[in-house]
Order: sequence, then C-alpha cells, then structure tokens
Amino acid sequence: MTSTLHLDSSAQPTIDIDFPNRLLSESSVDLSHSNTMALACAAGSVVELTDESQLDVFMASYEDIISQKSLFVLSGGSNVLLPAQLDAIVLQPKMCGITLVAQIDEYVDIEVMAGENWHDLVVHTVNQGWYGLENLALIPGLTGAAPVQNIGAYGVQLEDCLEYVRAYHLPTKTWHQLSTADCEFGYRDSIFKRAPNTWLISCVGFRLHTDVNKVLASYGDVKTVAQRYAEQQDRTQVTPVDVMQAIIDIRQQKLPDPKHLPNCGSFFQNPIIPQKQFTQLQTTYPTIVGYPMPDDMVKVAAGWLIEQAGLKGGGIAPIVTHQHQALVLTNHTPYQATQYDVATSQKYIATVVFEKFAIQLSREPVWVNTDGSVGYDEYVA
Ligand SMILES: Cc1cc2nc3c(=O)[nH]c(=O)nc-3n(C[C@H](O)[C@H](O)[C@H](O)COP(=O)(O)OP(=O)(O)OC[C@H]3O[C@@H](n4cnc5c(N)ncnc54)[C@H](O)[C@@H]3O)c2cc1C
Repeated sequence: MTSTLHLDSSAQPTIDIDFPNRLLSESSVDLSHSNTMALACAAGSVVELTDESQLDVFMASYEDIISQKSLFVLSGGSNVLLPAQLDAIVLQPKMCGITLVAQIDEYVDIEVMAGENWHDLVVHTVNQGWYGLENLALIPGLTGAAPVQNIGAYGVQLEDCLEYVRAYHLPTKTWHQLSTADCEFGYRDSIFKRAPNTWLISCVGFRLHTDVNKVLASYGDVKTVAQRYAEQQDRTQVTPVDVMQAIIDIRQQKLPDPKHLPNCGSFFQNPIIPQKQFTQLQTTYPTIVGYPMPDDMVKVAAGWLIEQAGLKGGGIAPIVTHQHQALVLTNHTPYQATQYDVATSQKYIATVVFEKFAIQLSREPVWVNTDGSVGYDEYVA
C-alpha cells in the first residue's frame, strides 16, 4: 500500500525548471528569520531543494563553486548558532510529503520527506491513529534534522520509531539508505552529528504502532496531566492523544516560545562528573540535582547550577537566561544580536558556574563558522 499526502499545500514538491540558475543570487540572503535564536546572519548562496533530484542537478552543475566553498545544511534553524556572515553554500532541504508505505495489523510504516515540520508530523500521525511519536510533540524543526541529534523528550528518542534514513553523501555525491544501526545513534548523537555537512538527509522511514493502550507516560508530570485529559473525556485509560496534549501543555508552560522570545531550547548540556566530585559538592550543596550514570559518573542538572550561581535571568545582555528556565538562553534584540553576543554571554555564565562549582558547562546547539564548518570554541573558556 502506498499513498502520499502533503501537510502543507504551499510546499508541494515541484520540479523547478529554473533550477539551478536560481542559486546565482547577486545579493545576500537574510537568514536572521531562519534561525529560532533570531541571530543576525547574511548568506551569499542559499539553495532551496524541493525535490531530491534537484540535489543531483545542483551537485553536477556547480562543481567549480562546490570545490571552492563549503556546503552547510540548514533546516528549521532551531539548533544552530549562525555567524553574522555565512560564506558557505547553504542547502535547505524543503522536500515535502508523507507516504503511507504499509499497514500491517498493529504496525504502520510511513516515509516522511525532510522538509515536513516535525510537530505537524507528530500531530498528524497521532490524529491518524499511528502512535509512537507523541512524546516528541512540540520539538521545533523539520523532520530531516530529527535524526541528526536523535531528538528526544519525555522518555522517548527518535531511534525508538525510526526504521531508516535516506541521505545524500555530499563528498561522494551518492545516495544511501541507512538503517537504524548504520546511523549509530547515541544520546543526542548520531553519525550525522559526528560528521557535520557530510550527509544531507532527504527522507526518514518510521514504523509506528496502532495500539491505543500503549503509552509511555511515566516521565515527570505527564501521567497526571494526561489522566486529567482522559477524565475530561470520561475515560479511565490514558491514550496517546492524552499524552501528546499533556506534553504540549507542559512544554508550553516550561519553555519560552521562540516566536515570542527567540531561543534555541536547552542551551547548556547537563555536565557529567565523577561520583566522588558530586559527593563532595553534596556536602556544601545538599540540594544539588544529579542523576546516576554508568562508570561511577553523575549527570548534574545544568539549570540548577546556573540558578544557584545567581544567573537565572542573568548573563550579558542582550543574551540572557530565561527567568523561569535557566537552561535556556534568550535573545532580547532579535535580528540584531550576533553569534558573538551569544559567545560572550555563554563564556560569562560558564565562568561564573566554574568558579563556584568547578564544573565546566558546554553548549548544546551547533556553532556554525563563517565558512560553514561547525564547532568553533574560541570564545569559550
Ligand atoms: C524551544 C526549543 C525546544 C527544543 N526541545 C528539544 C527537545 O526536547 N529535544 C531535542 O532533542 N531537541 C530539542 N530542541 C532542539 C531542536 O529543536 C532539534 O535539534 C531539532 O531537531 C533541530 O531541527 P532543525 O530543523 O531546526 O535543524 P537545524 O537547527 O536547522 O539544524 C541542526 C543541525 O542539523 C543539521 N541538519 C539539519 N537538517 C539536516 C538534514 N536534512 N540533513 C543533514 N543534516 C541536517 C544542520 O546542519 C545542523 O548541524 C529544541 C529547540 C528549541 C528552540
């Protein structure tokens, strides 16, 4: 069985006959509205891909430019810190479509193109009675980026439902289908994250289930809120729809909406320290929050550290931590603040926390350099 639909009718796949000539834009493209942190960014070359075949055409037609410039893949821009000037060729995967590949008793196999909005996909699947993605509701971004850091929330990670990824290997100009094992997923990690700008993911295959009684609602407040939804519907059994609604509610209360206050979600990673160091810290700070990890290590709540360092709502303006969620850095001068401002504030916060707890904080979002390479740390102690 195969049927395809498009969630966003304005983004139907098309073969653009002017492509790839459109690439040769004379003026720079403003990407400050294309990243949720709303950092000022101008790019010289942006290529919008609405069909997989366009990638083959582009790679074959622009060999001379590609040999001189880096390629950078940008989707929803919710996990990147873009530079003020981006000189790389920016590839934007905007292919759309959701294909129902097979429906077998309690399972449904679907294939989703990279340009589909992630949250819209979650809502769509749950409304269809296809379950498994509900705990990942309201994570910003597009579907093609989801495997990059194996997105996760409320006890579920993308890899739990993912079957395969179709991706273009940029260095060899070849298409590949990667299984879950090939993707080498880890906690917020994958082969794609470890080799940035090497792959362009164009499509993701999922296996979802249709068992309305199978839910994962043990995490935090999810169970209580989901049960309230079920009771409102005169049901005792919590369904995946209740779980999705609960998670949407909780996330809306907890996290600032980037549309109103630009941010890129959790900015700092929870640091992992030796149990011995954690025990020593507990003697001075009995309320320190930590979770046991393998190999005698402890994952410490970075939000707690920042709050205890007196930096809730603090940092260096215009980039400051959220007043209710210290883990989130917010931009108070959208489209003007730059990557440099983020680095300055990050460095200040990390230094204050280090001086107090001797724990080094590092960032979660992807730092993008002017040439499109990622992972520059000049500003960070
Ligand atoms: C408010 C908020 C809450 C968030 N909550 C969560 C959460 O709960 N859990 C979680 O895991 N994340 C969370 N995030 C982070 C972010 O939403 C995810 O990492 C998301 O998958 C990024 O998608 P994007 O389309 O915005 O990717 P982008 O930010 O555009 O790109 C991120 C990285 O992926 C690469 N990339 C993007 N698309 C492709 C592609 N098609 N092929 C190959 N590489 C690609 C980029 O080059 C870049 O390195 C949150 C972010 C925000 C702003």
